[in-house]
Amino acid sequence: MSIVTRFAPSPTGMLHIGGARTALFNALLAKHHKGKFLLRVEDTDRARSTDEATQAILEGLSWLGLTPDEAPVFQSQNAARHVECAQAMIENGTAFRCYTTQEELQARREAGEAKRAAAKSDDLSDAEKAALRTEAVALLAPFRSPWRGGDLDPPAPDAPFTIRLRAPDDGVITVDDGVQGTVSIQSSEIDDLILVRADGSPTYMLAVVVDDHDMEVTHVLRGDDHFRNTFRQIPIYQAMGWALPEFAHVPMIHGDDGAKLSKRHGALSTLAYRDMGYLPEAMNAYLLRLGWSHGDQEIFTFEEAASVFTMAGLNKAPSRLDLDKLNAVNSHFIRAADPDRLLALVSEEVSKLTELDDALRQKLELALPTLKARGNTLPEVAAACRFLWDANQDNLTKNARKALRDDKLIILAKIREALDQTDSWTIETLEGVLGAFCALHTLSMGQVGPPLRAALTGGLPAPDIAPVLYWLGREDVLARIDRHLPA
Ligand code: GLU
Repeated sequence: MSIVTRFAPSPTGMLHIGGARTALFNALLAKHHKGKFLLRVEDTDRARSTDEATQAILEGLSWLGLTPDEAPVFQSQNAARHVECAQAMIENGTAFRCYTTQEELQARREAGEAKRAAAKSDDLSDAEKAALRTEAVALLAPFRSPWRGGDLDPPAPDAPFTIRLRAPDDGVITVDDGVQGTVSIQSSEIDDLILVRADGSPTYMLAVVVDDHDMEVTHVLRGDDHFRNTFRQIPIYQAMGWALPEFAHVPMIHGDDGAKLSKRHGALSTLAYRDMGYLPEAMNAYLLRLGWSHGDQEIFTFEEAASVFTMAGLNKAPSRLDLDKLNAVNSHFIRAADPDRLLALVSEEVSKLTELDDALRQKLELALPTLKARGNTLPEVAAACRFLWDANQDNLTKNARKALRDDKLIILAKIREALDQTDSWTIETLEGVLGAFCALHTLSMGQVGPPLRAALTGGLPAPDIAPVLYWLGREDVLARIDRHLPA
């Protein structure tokens, strides 16, 4: 059997990082088994679903490289099919028309709560209290509709009705879950759930089952916030005589303090991480480890993960968002990135800081193999490159100012001459020039380096002086030095 997985987001906001993780797991599971990964946009809540949210989800998935194997399915377009299935259930006796109104249900709940409160009264005997409690329990129990037997007449020929599932009368409902294990509840714990509302629209509970069946989904892997729903969805599969998919409910991602993930723990939108300068492969590698493991390997490319990804590696313990770890993973992938791609990404960041001309692009190209290790995110790497376009002369640090005091300028003038006369401009030759210069003038690098560095970078963080000279190029180096020498 070929496996089919799906990601089924509701387009009511951004692509949440928890959703991105679900999508990733589903994409990897499908890829591992050479199956299909599908996307279903669950847009049945017309009031809350927006096109912008759908676009944000598609953009987020595409950024992460998690594009589905087929065109997305829009759940709202299947409404007629959902209702048709509910009709089929009416015909086979597993569903029925229910004329109980929302108001009646509300009244039932309120009556139950009133009886429960009344049972606490000191004026009643123990027997009276027990009787009230029993009545309260019955009223507050999952709703079993008086219409389920089909032997009542409708209140009026055109009275509005919902279609409800006839919940199993007794026995247990069991979910065999790839993460949560085998869990059973009593059938009496679920109500005669609504399949089609009084306005004729299908409910989420019905739609998700019909769509998963019609899309031939074999593995439903989603967040454990949907685990309880599964007990209500299984009777729908059974009512339709459909085989159950495999289920796996992964624990939610928590904040670093163990609390439910919220904004105060960090950004929740996947695209916010793109905008903060994280690489998609780093995001995937990081999200992968939030809830899945394979030995103690920490870093995976998508291909590596796909080759070993099975449900057996899913963890039951909730995972915690750890931004330090994300930074470390991002730094790894920045260092591993293809040079041309990294140049393009960092150039984009640099162009937010300064005008990016060909000369600067060339400096970046030379310097990035070294400077890429100096930041955890793309903007941090761009910031580490600042000295390439900014000599920082209006903002000299205290040490740079000291290193450029008059007496030091003699050294600077001499080293300028040596650099001007050098034929070859490579890191090695420049190292040689500096060494020979020190030897000739009986100076140490501790005397030559500081004024030169101060003239070139004004104290901005920068690596060894020879590569800095090399990246800046002779023309820029001489111009930067000349600013400090008397004309
Ligand atoms: N649409 C649901 C959500 O976004 C997911 C449903 C499912 O995966 O079954 O939470």
